[in-house]
Amino acid sequence: MSHKVDVAIIGGGASGGMAALHLKLAEPSLRVVIIERDLSYAIASTPRGSGGFRHLFSLPENIELSKYSVPFIKDLPQTLSLDSKPVDIGLQLHGYLFIVPHQDVRVLEENYERQRAMGCNVEWKTPSQLQETYPSMKVEDLAAGVFSPDDGWLSNLQVLQALNHKLRFLGVEFLEEEVAGFDFGSHRVSSVNFKSGAKVEAEHFVNAAGAWSGVLCELLGVSTPIVPLKRYEHYFEADTSTEQLPYIKDTAKLAFRPEGSGFSGGVPTFNELRGFHFSIDDSYFDAVVKPALIQRFQTFEKTSAITTRSGLYDQNDFDYSPIIGPGLGGLENFHMMSGFSGHGLMHSPGVGRAISELILTGAFQTMDLRRFGWQRILDNKPVKESGII
Ligand SMILES: Cc1cc2nc3c(=O)[nH]c(=O)nc-3n(C[C@H](O)[C@H](O)[C@H](O)COP(=O)(O)OP(=O)(O)OC[C@H]3O[C@@H](n4cnc5c(N)ncnc54)[C@H](O)[C@@H]3O)c2cc1C
Repeated sequence: MSHKVDVAIIGGGASGGMAALHLKLAEPSLRVVIIERDLSYAIASTPRGSGGFRHLFSLPENIELSKYSVPFIKDLPQTLSLDSKPVDIGLQLHGYLFIVPHQDVRVLEENYERQRAMGCNVEWKTPSQLQETYPSMKVEDLAAGVFSPDDGWLSNLQVLQALNHKLRFLGVEFLEEEVAGFDFGSHRVSSVNFKSGAKVEAEHFVNAAGAWSGVLCELLGVSTPIVPLKRYEHYFEADTSTEQLPYIKDTAKLAFRPEGSGFSGGVPTFNELRGFHFSIDDSYFDAVVKPALIQRFQTFEKTSAITTRSGLYDQNDFDYSPIIGPGLGGLENFHMMSGFSGHGLMHSPGVGRAISELILTGAFQTMDLRRFGWQRILDNKPVKESGII
C-alpha cells in the first residue's frame, strides 16, 4: 500500500502537531499526514513535560521564538476550538522567575538587557523586592532575579488532545505506523517506509520524532548529536501554604511551579546516561531535589515526592539548541524539527511556523532561524544559550 501527500510529518507530539497546524492554517488544501507509531503517546515526551513557557532566553533566535510562541499559546483556547467555545488547555499565567547568586548576575543582566531591547516585558528584581513578593523565599545568597509576567505554564496533555482534534477537523490525516526506513537519493527523500510494509510518498518530510529523531536520521545514514536524556518531573507538597509562586528556575537547575494543591518540578541533570531509559531512582528526590528546595524556601522541610514521572529530552549535546530546517545528509526536502533540549513545548508554535514557511516559501519569513540549521554542526559552530537554560 502506498499513497502520496504533500507533507509527511514523522511524530505526532507538540512539534509535529504545531508544524501541521501552521501548514494547514496557511494552506488549507495541502495534503498533510502525521505518522505516529503510538497514538496513546505512552512514552512520548509531550505528555510528560512540565508545560512551562517563557521569554527568558539569551539567544535572539530563542527570544524571537518565544515572542511568537507565547502569544500563540495564549490564543490556543480560541485557535483550537472546533466551535466558538474556547478549549481548556490548563493555562496558568503566573509568570516565570529566574534567580541567581552573585557570580551569575552579570549574565542575567546581559540577558535581561537583550530581552528588553527585543521588546519583552521583563522586570529586574533585587533580593529585597523578591523577599517582599515571596516571603517564603530565602534570598540571602541571591544577587537578583528577573520576572517575566507574561509567561506561565499549561497542561501538556490537554494541549495535545485539543491539537489533535483540531488537526483532524482541518483534514490532517493521522497514520498509526512506525517508520522503519526511507527511499532517498543524494538530494531528496522520496518516500517513508513503515514496519507494516506500507509507505507514503511526499514532497516534503519533517522529522518531529523528539528523542527518537536521531534514530530516524540514522536510517538516512547520518548520525546527529541529538540523544535521549532522561528527566524526572516530581509532584510534591509544601509543609505549609505559600504565596502564589511563578515558575521558578535557578542556576542550580531547580525548576518548579505550582500544580493543584502542590508543586511540579525537579532538578534536571546532564549527568544521566544517554539512552531510552525511563526507570526511576526513588532516592533522587530526597538526595537532590529536596535539599535544593530547602535551600531556597522555608516550607519544604518535610516534603517528599508524592509521584515521580520520567520523560525524555531530545537533547542536542552539541550546543543544547534545536536543529531546524533542511540540509541533513544533503537532503533538501527532509526538515529537522528537533534537539530542543527541554524547550520543545514552548517553542513548538514558533518552530511550527518556521517549518511551514520553509516548506511553503523555501525560506524563513517571520523569524530568521538560519543559525539553528544543520550546517552549524558540520561547521562545528555551536549556538549556545548563556545563563539558566
Ligand atoms: C520532565 C520534562 C519536563 C519538561 N518541561 C518542559 C517545559 O517546561 N517547557 C517546554 O517547553 N518543554 C519541556 N520539556 C520538553 C518538551 O516536553 C519536549 O521538548 C516536547 O514535548 C517535545 O515534543 P516533540 O513533539 O518534539 O516530541 P514527542 O512528544 O516525544 O513526540 C515525538 C513522537 O514521535 C513518535 N515517533 C518516534 N519515533 C517514531 C517512528 N519511528 N515512527 C513513528 N513515530 C515515531 C513518538 O511516538 C512520539 O509520539 C520537558 C520534558 C520533560 C521530559
